[in-house]
Amino acid sequence: MVNTIQKSLDDKSIVKDYFNATGFERWRNIYGDGQVNKVQLDIREGHQQTIDKVVNWLKEDGNLANLTICDAGCGVGSLTIPLAQEGAIIFASDISSKMVGEAAERIKQVMTNPRNIRLGVQDLESIRGEYHTVICLDVLIHYPTEEAAQMIKHLSSLAKSRLILSFAPKTFFLTILKRIGEFFPGPSKTTRAYQHKEEDIVKILQDNGFQIKRTDMTSTNFYYSRLLEAVR
Ligand code: SAH
Repeated sequence: MVNTIQKSLDDKSIVKDYFNATGFERWRNIYGDGQVNKVQLDIREGHQQTIDKVVNWLKEDGNLANLTICDAGCGVGSLTIPLAQEGAIIFASDISSKMVGEAAERIKQVMTNPRNIRLGVQDLESIRGEYHTVICLDVLIHYPTEEAAQMIKHLSSLAKSRLILSFAPKTFFLTILKRIGEFFPGPSKTTRAYQHKEEDIVKILQDNGFQIKRTDMTSTNFYYSRLLEAVR
């Protein structure tokens, strides 16, 4: 047990350091509109598809205005911004203060004084409160399944009705493995990419009282993300 906790602290501090340093520069560019290389452009487009899919699901439901949403591991606000523009009430937080700082900048650029967004710098396991919907996109890739299970458990406790998650599915393991060097080049390779078996994630969600409602899959050359919407 102590070992598991220690290991999880290590994983978290490695991820946090990465997203406050080289990872911040890299992902700020990928999640932006400036010049990037071909691989990064491919990842940018893939990620944008995931964002668009979630935004479309929520819009289709027709109840986005005033819906309470927690965007856990919000990065630079790629999802928070379009949802807030639709009137959702959002708490967005991230373990990296740099990412949250960038999110604040981007929000300022497109919205004047938005009252429906609250930002926080914190590990997702320390988020408190209750939200209609909790969303956690492209974060679980940074943690082994055991730790992802703990995270999902905590996120479940915050979600009154719905939890939306994305993760890199294990099926593409070999493809990803070959390309991991592209995801985390150079010294930042210390941050690993973990794939999860869909059946494991579904079981974790079920164990926490959820069932799968909608699913989607985004695959480009270098970006693979399975999207699950789970409801109570
Ligand atoms: N969800 C965003 C960002 C994805 S990048 C989007 O899809 O646009 C992954 C983000 O997860 C990074 O910003 C990183 O800092 C954050 N992160 C990683 N581990 C975290 C944790 N334990 N708690 C909160 N945020 C975390």
